Amino acid sequence: MTTETSHLAAPVVKSFSSTQGVALRSVTKKFGSFTAIENLNLEVAAGTYCCLVGPSGCGKTTTMRMIAGHEEVTAGEILIGDRRVNHLPPAKRDTAMMFQSYALFPHKTVWDNVDFGLKMRKVALAERRIRVGEMLELVGLSQLSDRKPHQLSGGQQQRIALARALITRPQVLLLDEPLSALDESLRLRMRGELRKIQQQFGMTFIQVTHGMDEAMSLSDQIIVMDHGHIEQVGTPSEIFHKPASQFVSRFMGDNNIFEGKVAHIASDTNRGDLIELEVEGMGGLFCRGHASQVGAVGACSIRADLIHLSTQSSNELSPHPNSIQARITAIELTGYVTRVSLIEEKTGQELLYKVRSDDWLQSSLREGQLISVRWSAEECVFLPH
Ligand code: ATP
Repeated sequence: MTTETSHLAAPVVKSFSSTQGVALRSVTKKFGSFTAIENLNLEVAAGTYCCLVGPSGCGKTTTMRMIAGHEEVTAGEILIGDRRVNHLPPAKRDTAMMFQSYALFPHKTVWDNVDFGLKMRKVALAERRIRVGEMLELVGLSQLSDRKPHQLSGGQQQRIALARALITRPQVLLLDEPLSALDESLRLRMRGELRKIQQQFGMTFIQVTHGMDEAMSLSDQIIVMDHGHIEQVGTPSEIFHKPASQFVSRFMGDNNIFEGKVAHIASDTNRGDLIELEVEGMGGLFCRGHASQVGAVGACSIRADLIHLSTQSSNELSPHPNSIQARITAIELTGYVTRVSLIEEKTGQELLYKVRSDDWLQSSLREGQLISVRWSAEECVFLPH
């Protein structure tokens, strides 16, 4: 795969006249006796860039395929704008789907691949010429219109697939892992270009991705799914700073999670209740959030970049609500960031610390050292069971 250098051209295609959102109401999908999606409710507002994330098999692709009309719903309804589309075939839903494999026609030229959707809709030849020309200019591939897909790089094929999906001016563009076949640098660039196109057209984009960083950088809204249901819907910032469950916190990665029982709740409607969680072997840890009652099982989560390490023992340091002793077990320099693995002394729980590599190299901490680990209750999030 060669690396692309060209960027998207200035928009020559006018913004689409109107954009519509998508709603799923109590949608269930069964494959035989297996329930892939259960009573799913979701709302994607018009003009939103929404990413669906979740572990393999959680139902992301099935959800997209039901919206596109490639899969029938077993129960519930799908709305595009205020139209119930359950009964409509894919071509009548005003959606377009861009597949992971791009699904380009191998024997057709770039031009004919992009033209295909318009031809099927019996758009007049003169108009097709203008629209295909504009679209190829938009994705920066006008010069390659006579080539066949196998004569294109991965990035160029990806752009043709995007042009082909956009040419019919769908209300909603569904993208199933559109960047997964690209190398790292091209993926980063295409991310920016997808976002630019979505904003230029003000379209509704719904994208399946495995990469949390991709979802974070692209989305207005992230939907985290697990086992056919939604765990959390929120902005990237909400998901990052306030994971709603242990599942989301673990799925995000790079969070330290401690399980325990709620020992005390001090009500605070502004910042969230101050909760003391009794964690076996570590005592009381403090966090913010909303717990149903004292005695409830729960957990707290602190991001790996928000813990602080010190060589001083707990006795030497001033009393601190969240303070434990841990040993450094591994140090991994990964470029800008260094990842430090730790193991808590009494319980053996593994922890992760993330720090700027420059800061780490200036510290005197070394593998094997026993150190104090502290973090603020304000940055520690309570996670209900
Ligand atoms: P991945 O990230 O691996 O692509 P996903 O989240 O997109 O996974 P889906 O492809 O939507 O997951 O599949 C959801 C569940 O439904 C899985 O358990 C899958 O095996 C099952 N499934 C999907 N399509 C069918 C089918 N046609 N027949 C039977 N089961 C299916």
